[in-house]
Amino acid sequence: MPIQKNRLKPNEYDANFQDIHPPFETKDAALVEANRCLYCYDAPCTKSCPTGIDVPKFIRQITTGNIKGSAHTILASNIMGAGCSRVCPVEKLCEGACVYNLMEEDPIPIAKLQRYSTEMALEKNWKLFDRKPAVGKKVAVIGAGPAGLSCAHRLSREGVDVTIFEKEQLGGGLMTYGIAAYKVTPGFCKDEVDYILSIGGINVKYGVALGRDVQLDELKKEFDAVYLAFGVGLARRLDIPGEELEGVVDAISFIYDIRDKGFDKVPVGDKVAVIGMGMTAIDAATQARRLGAAEVTILYRRTKDEMPCTQKELDIAMLDGCKVIWLAAPKEVIGRDGKVISLVADVMILGEPDASGRRAPVATGDTFSLDVDMVIKAAGQMPFVDLVKNAGLDEQGGKVRVKDQAITNISNVFAGGDCVNGGKEVVDAVQAGKDGAMQILRFLGMPIE
Ligand code: SF4
Repeated sequence: MPIQKNRLKPNEYDANFQDIHPPFETKDAALVEANRCLYCYDAPCTKSCPTGIDVPKFIRQITTGNIKGSAHTILASNIMGAGCSRVCPVEKLCEGACVYNLMEEDPIPIAKLQRYSTEMALEKNWKLFDRKPAVGKKVAVIGAGPAGLSCAHRLSREGVDVTIFEKEQLGGGLMTYGIAAYKVTPGFCKDEVDYILSIGGINVKYGVALGRDVQLDELKKEFDAVYLAFGVGLARRLDIPGEELEGVVDAISFIYDIRDKGFDKVPVGDKVAVIGMGMTAIDAATQARRLGAAEVTILYRRTKDEMPCTQKELDIAMLDGCKVIWLAAPKEVIGRDGKVISLVADVMILGEPDASGRRAPVATGDTFSLDVDMVIKAAGQMPFVDLVKNAGLDEQGGKVRVKDQAITNISNVFAGGDCVNGGKEVVDAVQAGKDGAMQILRFLGMPIE
């Protein structure tokens, strides 16, 4: 059967894409879990959070019924704490560090408790942060993703006027457009962005792209400082024959379309191969299954020991019925009448460690073939090389090169998030935005320590 739209009935889409991490059903259920917390001194859960959320403090606030205080504790460190409670790979961050793991007991469900408090803050629109009176300084932020929003919110709290230029029609960046729909819904993402912007002093210009509609030279003159948080682009090319055939798609575009167009509008194959083993690859594979693909096979050129996704993410894919072929790299996509009919892959072995410190995959010379009608590319994302070079920024492999947290080679231009690091977790981008705001405040002569 060829690649096609609308394979399932509406109720099947609803069932397949319902919230994968449902909230506590009752207040008592939240309290039972919160009361298990040992309020550790020098808490490892806090140390393992890139934004340094004071986990024992917010959990204790839940136990005393101070949900507003709990939400403030979370959001003061991570303004996207509501979204992060749904999308963070907590098994390798806070929950993975919880001392209960050492006792071979279930860790405190920190993400679920964080969701409990922050969702209430969003639902009730609690005003937890005040904006200081305007100080007469203007900052332009490029990108309304996690780094841009975090930077803008921190600056606005200090009375700085912020204008965000966002190329899409909605804010939230990858949270809105690049994560599986069963983790966060478009409605939730919009609520979170609205909540962040409700502090005031932040004007968002949607549909405006740097390098196309606005130039860095103009912004440098018009604003006191510019913060670049334009993220990364489409999936890396495979650079193999057949890559241009109909049925070879980019994972980011595939996930974006599911979020933007709706489940029944996105074509999916009957037999799908996904290339890569990061979170984006897992999100693409699981969603292909949930859109109705009969078979989904994930190919990864290394072994399970080197996979970038967490075991929990892999478990989701396996439970969805996706198959994995380890030590396999795409070699050629075969087509007929311009459409994908199969994928030829190299069998790999691991050789000496490469620059990443992991053992490098090496082709053995043996190959195998998979009958597929769709290939989804999810082997990393490409930085916006031309954008960075044309703006006169120092670059490193297409990413913006910074020194000392967020400072670029241009005096009033700062940068952070995925356009600097090449793509990390949402929570890392939020912290980058905070770091960028601090550097900008220092530059403007308004240091906050
Ligand atoms: Fe509570 Fe676990 Fe953090 Fe200790 S490590 S403070 S038990 S959540």
